[in-house]
Formats: sequence, structure tokens, C-alpha cells
Amino acid sequence: MNKQEKEELQKRLIRWYLEKRRPLPWRETSDPYRIWLSEVMLQQTQVNTVIPYYHRFLKKFPDLQLLAQADQQKVLKMWEGLGYYARARNLHKAAQTVVMEHQGEVPSNWEAFKKLPGVGDYIAAAVLSIAFHRPCAVVDGNVKRVLARLRLLREPVNTSSAHKIFKAAAEKLLDRDDPATFNQAIMELGALVCAPRKPDCVNCPVRPGCRAYQTGNVDAYPKRIATRAVPQYHIAVGVVCKKDRMLITRRKPEGLLGGLWEFPGGKVAKKESPQQACIREIAEEVNLKVVVDAYLTRVRHVYTHFKIVMDIYCCRYVSGRVRLNGPVDHRWIRINEIDRFAFPKANHKFLPALRQWEAERKPIV
Ligand code: SF4
Repeated sequence: MNKQEKEELQKRLIRWYLEKRRPLPWRETSDPYRIWLSEVMLQQTQVNTVIPYYHRFLKKFPDLQLLAQADQQKVLKMWEGLGYYARARNLHKAAQTVVMEHQGEVPSNWEAFKKLPGVGDYIAAAVLSIAFHRPCAVVDGNVKRVLARLRLLREPVNTSSAHKIFKAAAEKLLDRDDPATFNQAIMELGALVCAPRKPDCVNCPVRPGCRAYQTGNVDAYPKRIATRAVPQYHIAVGVVCKKDRMLITRRKPEGLLGGLWEFPGGKVAKKESPQQACIREIAEEVNLKVVVDAYLTRVRHVYTHFKIVMDIYCCRYVSGRVRLNGPVDHRWIRINEIDRFAFPKANHKFLPALRQWEAERKPIV
């Protein structure tokens, strides 16, 4: 692609974006904190899911200073249901670093911004280009797909080695005079027009420069390598009741679902029934002896790299004192206190059934 063709493509793409872009709340601000927040929330999450969370989060933490001062549990509560909780924990830590080391100003250079917790290549390029107009090309799944088709890039998009190749292609194509608009435009094109299946080539502004379209190869790009089937785990969970209270535990602050509250439980071992696993896990995790009173329900949940089938039991406390092995904290709470704690989405799936069971059961005295 020569210079003239590249400029023509940039012009067409930007013109299309300014006319057709979706009116999203983070597009109405130049505040780096708000742009940063939106980019963090949008990683792995659909735009429509993010919008209410974005408003709610900003209502609670309208600026970076307030976020930095907040208790981590309050931050996780605002993130509850959005998933990938490391994003919230890192953003919170990063806000504290910005306040302590950068006088509360989001750093506008690559080296300083990239050092903040949770800031990878994508977030750095997106925030620095959109908020500070730095010439950094963004590469996300949408951009990879558009580039693969535009330039007939054969590297499978789902390999780690692909990133360098797509980054170089994105840098080459970037409009350095207006990186903020160009980056948003190419991502929007991937989201609205150059879709994974049935791209709308007829209405695509960059069709004249698209090699996949010109050669009749649209369906053959992007290339992917086959991935292994996602493993499934069987989990048993126990709601341990002692009089009118139930036991919840908090996960250690780091790792999957770190810092969130949950009911004790774990994987069902081979040759073990879920009910036996529930009793064993409670003994191992919180050192309590319980009996199962009722089977509550089964829920399923899909994470990025695995899925779970979860059987939930209502258990009655028999004996023992809580001694934690794994979790870092615990509480005996009443059912009406449950909303004060942040739980993973998989737990939320059975809370309505638990509330109903609790409303119908006779309190154990
Ligand atoms: Fe994608 Fe089709 Fe546009 Fe090419 S012409 S960028 S394949 S929508």
C-alpha cells in the first residue's frame, strides 16, 4: 500500500466513524480517568453490559482520588457481576499509585503509564492515544480481524506470536495526525461492519483498499488455530447455617475472583458424590462438621478457560470452630445482609433459590 492509498484509507475510515459511531458515554469526555475506566471495563466485556456499570462506578467514584481512597471491598462491590475482578483490583491499586507517585495526574507518557498495575499494551495504547493523542496504535480482537482482512495477514490471530505482527501492521496504518479518532474508528469498524461472520462489505468505507474483499477471500480471514475443548469441573458448595446465620468466606486477594466472598466448597473428587464433597470441603476449608439438610439447586457458569457445574447444598452446623484453610476471612451473616458483600456471578445465580429456601425454612434454634 503506497502513501496515497494509506491516506485515502485513513480519510475514509475517519469520515465513516465521525458519521456512524455509536454515542457511548466515554466518547463524551476527555477525562483520562474516565477513558481509562471505560477501556478497563470493556476488556472481555460487551459494550451494552459495560454502560450501566460505567455510570454506577462513576457515581460512586467520580474521580481518581476518590477511587484511590476507597476500601477494596467497596470497589469490588461496584464491579460485582462484571467478572475478571483482577481488573478492578489493579485499577484500584493503579489509582493509588497515581495519587502517591504522580500527584493524582494520570501519566501521559508510555513508560510511566505502562508501569501502573494492570496496564498492558492495549490499555496503554488506547488511553494514551484517546486521552492524550499520543501516536500509539491499538490492537484488540476487532483490530486484528480488520487488519487480517485488509492486508491478508496469514498469522493466526489466536496465537501469542501474532501480536507483534498485528502491532506492526497497526502502527504502519495509524494516522499519526489523529491517533485518537483513527484508533476508535478501526475498533468501531470491527465492531459494527467487519464482523466475524457476514461482514457488511457492501457498506464498508475501506472496501476499495481491502485485499480480502478485492480477492474474494473475506471468509478465509482471519486465520485461527484450533483450540482445545474447554475443561469442565464439578463443584460442590455448602451454605452452612447456624441458627439464623450463614457462613460466607472471602477468597485471598489475588488470583481468580480474588477478594470476593463466597460459600465454602470445592471440586468433587473421583468416586465421591457431590454431597460427600460438600461435607469434606467444608471440613477442610473452614474446619466445621456439618450435615446436609437439603439440596438447593444446580447452576452452570462459564469462565474464560473452563466451565463449572455447581451443586449447592443447605447444610446445618454440627460442631467445630471456624479455622480458615484457603480463605482469608469469614462472616456469619443473615440473609438480608448478603447484598453488602461482593459475590462472584456464579454465586448470584443461586441466590434467588437460597433466599426462597431461607424464607420457607423454620429457623434452627
Ligand atoms: Fe472487512 Fe469487508 Fe470492509 Fe474488508 S471490505 S474491511 S472484509 S467489512
